[in-house]
Amino acid sequence: MRTLPGAAEIRTPPEPRGLLVRSGVCLLLCLASAAGKADPYPRAELAVSSRQLAQTLATTLGSGFSLEIANLFGGSLARQHLLGFVGDSAAALDVPPVADALWSRALALAVVRADAPAELDLEEMIARSATMLGDYDRARDAAQRASTLARKLDDRNAQAQAENALGIVERRRGHLEQATEHQQKAFALFVAEGNETGQIRALTDLGTVWRDRGDFAKALQVQLDAATRSHSDSDRLEYLYRNLGLLYRDIEDTHTSREYFKRAISEAIQRGSPTAYSTVIGSYASLLNDLGDFAGAREASSEALAIDSALDDRPHTGLDLLELGRALLGLHENAEAERHLEQALKLGRELQQREIIARALLYLTQAAIADGDSLRARGTIDEAIAGLEATHLRQHLAQAYAMREQLAQSEGNPQDALRYAHKYLQAREEMIGVRTSRQLAALEVQHERTNAEQRVSILAKDNELQAARLERQKLVRDTALIIILGLSLTLIALFYRHRSMRRFNLALAQRNKEILEASAKLDSANAALRVQAAELERAATTDSLTQIANRRHLLQKLADRLMQAGEQGRSVVMLLIDFDHFKAINDEHGHLFGDQVLATGARAIGERLSRGDLFGRYGGEEFVAVLGQCPSDQALAFADAVREHVMARLTAALPMLGSKGTVSIGVACLADLPPPVDMSSFLDAADQALYAAKHAGRNCVRRYAA
Ligand code: GH3
Ligand code: MG
Ligand code: MG
Repeated sequence: MRTLPGAAEIRTPPEPRGLLVRSGVCLLLCLASAAGKADPYPRAELAVSSRQLAQTLATTLGSGFSLEIANLFGGSLARQHLLGFVGDSAAALDVPPVADALWSRALALAVVRADAPAELDLEEMIARSATMLGDYDRARDAAQRASTLARKLDDRNAQAQAENALGIVERRRGHLEQATEHQQKAFALFVAEGNETGQIRALTDLGTVWRDRGDFAKALQVQLDAATRSHSDSDRLEYLYRNLGLLYRDIEDTHTSREYFKRAISEAIQRGSPTAYSTVIGSYASLLNDLGDFAGAREASSEALAIDSALDDRPHTGLDLLELGRALLGLHENAEAERHLEQALKLGRELQQREIIARALLYLTQAAIADGDSLRARGTIDEAIAGLEATHLRQHLAQAYAMREQLAQSEGNPQDALRYAHKYLQAREEMIGVRTSRQLAALEVQHERTNAEQRVSILAKDNELQAARLERQKLVRDTALIIILGLSLTLIALFYRHRSMRRFNLALAQRNKEILEASAKLDSANAALRVQAAELERAATTDSLTQIANRRHLLQKLADRLMQAGEQGRSVVMLLIDFDHFKAINDEHGHLFGDQVLATGARAIGERLSRGDLFGRYGGEEFVAVLGQCPSDQALAFADAVREHVMARLTAALPMLGSKGTVSIGVACLADLPPPVDMSSFLDAADQALYAAKHAGRNCVRRYAA
């Protein structure tokens, strides 16, 4: 589906080729202004050039010779395409009359060829171009045919476009309800098709209808809805801004209105399309007139008029003439004003556009009154009132009633004057009421929008919160990861540490075992040493034959005993025991037998001694016993008992001895010796007593006496 060039509401050139043409337009504009051309409206100049170019294209490509060639190569299909293409080019150059004529010829061929898709395409184009030319009957017929074809071809986008075109035509015709229905259908179809550009277009046109119907709230809502759907690349932004500008003008918010017009103008300049530009500044002129800026209004409307008449856009030319007429009236250039208004009236009648007719008549009345020509005024005012009443243009109607009252008064008709004064007041009241309700509606719409914006900002807040939550979750996750990583590393470190500790402990245990083993060995070695030492000590202190203390040990002990006895003041008894005629025993029985005698005798002595007594071998066959507990007066008896026991034991143990196994004992009591007593004197005393026993015949006991 081709993008359609437009009617008054939609005058955007076809997009694909349009881009190229627009670039060319911009270039031409730049060249024109750089060359410093005298023409005050380069866009109008451009429109004229475009028109000439389009006409040249149409005559060279769209006429006899070229068509013959096309026919030769491709028959009627080629001819149809060539005409369609040249038509598109003319539309791209913003020259609807040329485009319209070419498309009509192409359509005739398409109908003959029964090429339904091409028919649909061309009908839609023609609907737009005819609207632009003010040929509303033809436009409606084309749009209706397009709608039927689109349904047949099941092309819902095309159906939507057709509904949109029908809506525009009906609005122009003043059939506002039908216009509303068509635009609503168009919008629904565009929504179903997901065609955003179409949706914005339908909403914008619907907004215009609602404005005409006086439902300002809906108009504003719809236009703002379109505005929120658009973006910087959107189609027809200049129309959207212009419509918003007009809406705000209607509620007398002139500041906002001007802002929207500024945006609309800047968009239109950027688009580089003279049609878009003229539509915007034409409307801007009406705002300036309302505001009493007549010089500005003249400037704007003159430029719009130059462009629209060059484009042969008759409906807009009519509106431009009206605004220019108003501006000139404001500037008190009545003759000029009337000339333009007459032109507007003529055009309005040709187009059967009631708004133009009625408004032209109104301003002409105003001019006549200003001229003081009440007759002429009377001739126009009633028709103006009829037209304005039919079109519900309240503001103009109030103005008309005021003029009518003025005229009635000047005619001396107070009844009429009163009637129109009433009507004027009623219209004003209605207007004020309408304006108030519009302002309220605008406030409501703005309130709703503020709510919506708040919802959006709450949503944005929610999003921020969500983002913060996500951020926090991410942080927690990262932290958790770091902790897990840290823990893992710690565990690994612990594991390695544990392993090395285990190894170390094993090594330590091994070492301990070795040490324990070594220690055990050492202990056994020590024990052996101790045994050895004990052995050595025993050997050192013991007599090997008799197993009693040897001489050295005996004497050491004796010295200790004497010292103890001295310290304690106790008495000590010493027995010096000597075997009798031992030399003879040896001689008779042998030395070994002598050893047996000595061992047996020593054992016998020991048997008689107490635990605390000291006993040792003094030398050869002589033994010493030191008695700790024996009183001196019992010493002799004890010694004798010992002698008897030894003899008995020897006789029993060694029968070979017979009665020869005897001993002599010398007894010395410490108390018997004059102090101080030393060891040798004590021994000597015992030896003296022994000598006495020997001398007494042996086998007896003697006590030393001082
Ligand atoms: P007396 O009655 O006067 O004591 O006469 P005796 O023969 O016992 O005394 P004498 O001192 O003349 O001789 C001691 C003898 O004891 C000399 C010596 O050979 C002997 N004798 C000393 N020690 C040992 C010994 O360990 N074993 C043996 N078989 N004989 C010893
Ligand atoms: Mg002796
Ligand atoms: Mg002897």
